[in-house]
Amino acid sequence: MSYLRWALPGLLALLAACSEPEPPPPEPPQDITPVPTLDAAAQRQADAAYYNQLRARWLELEHAERSSPEPETEQPVVAVPPAERKPPVPAAPVPSGATPALAIVIDDVGHNLHHGRRLLALPAPVTLAILPHTQAAQRLAEEAAAQGRSVILHQPMENGAGLSIGPGGLYNGMQPDELRQVLQNNLDSFAPILGLNNHMGSRLTAERQAMDEVMQVLRERNLFFIDSRTTHHTQAAFAAEAAGVPHLSRDVFLDNDRDPAAIARAFSRALDVARREGRALLIGHPYPQTLEFLEWRLAGDLLAEEGVEVVDVVELLGRE
Ligand SMILES: [Zn+2]
Repeated sequence: MSYLRWALPGLLALLAACSEPEPPPPEPPQDITPVPTLDAAAQRQADAAYYNQLRARWLELEHAERSSPEPETEQPVVAVPPAERKPPVPAAPVPSGATPALAIVIDDVGHNLHHGRRLLALPAPVTLAILPHTQAAQRLAEEAAAQGRSVILHQPMENGAGLSIGPGGLYNGMQPDELRQVLQNNLDSFAPILGLNNHMGSRLTAERQAMDEVMQVLRERNLFFIDSRTTHHTQAAFAAEAAGVPHLSRDVFLDNDRDPAAIARAFSRALDVARREGRALLIGHPYPQTLEFLEWRLAGDLLAEEGVEVVDVVELLGRE
């Protein structure tokens, strides 16, 4: 398998970008596209197979939800009992008995203006979680805010697999001052920003001290926090609670498996959580399959007929 050794660096780079879904490189103009040889086709197939293998490994490491089919029915997603949740700063509490609410956050936004604008065209208040120092970050943040949509910083944090997390990353080895400085720079890199959630972070979110530093900065800036829950060992919600930072935790990942049927099943799970708990938080990515699904699923009165309403994440913070 010397081919795999040869291909590993490139595939690892691809893998690192797997939660930063980008369109494939533009196709060369039709008139100069070479007819693929059998060898080239076989090689692409091998590439794809190996990439999928690596991606599956990454998902295992980063998306704790993969380890059990229905974790949200087995254990509370938020460590803090609902009765002890502090009223959120940004929104007035909504009385219980209201329609079950679902908030949707789309991660890994900022690299691609076109994909970002498809999110802005969705007929529901989807929140954009934008990566720092990406080329479309400022433009998308402004356009989203102009529509009244919430924008949060998608903060890269160290993962347990040693994968690249891109610019502006926070690492466990950082001194507190350095960690705070990198975070402040990211929060200043585009505007407006209402809150923060973690990009990857299976390593860092398990470190209480680092999470305490992060929450101090969020408290100073009056921002809220969403724990993407990329590890069962996450300390982030505890740290947020201790710091008095309004927070939510991800209930369901929409598109760990990009197969349309799997996306539909994940969405149904999120609706179930909303009906059961009164609220649910769903996180997805700007994959073409996810965009297509949401464009269809959020249109018209489909959800209202099922007794669930999609609300902005700030409104979800106000739900008990
Ligand atoms: Zn991410």
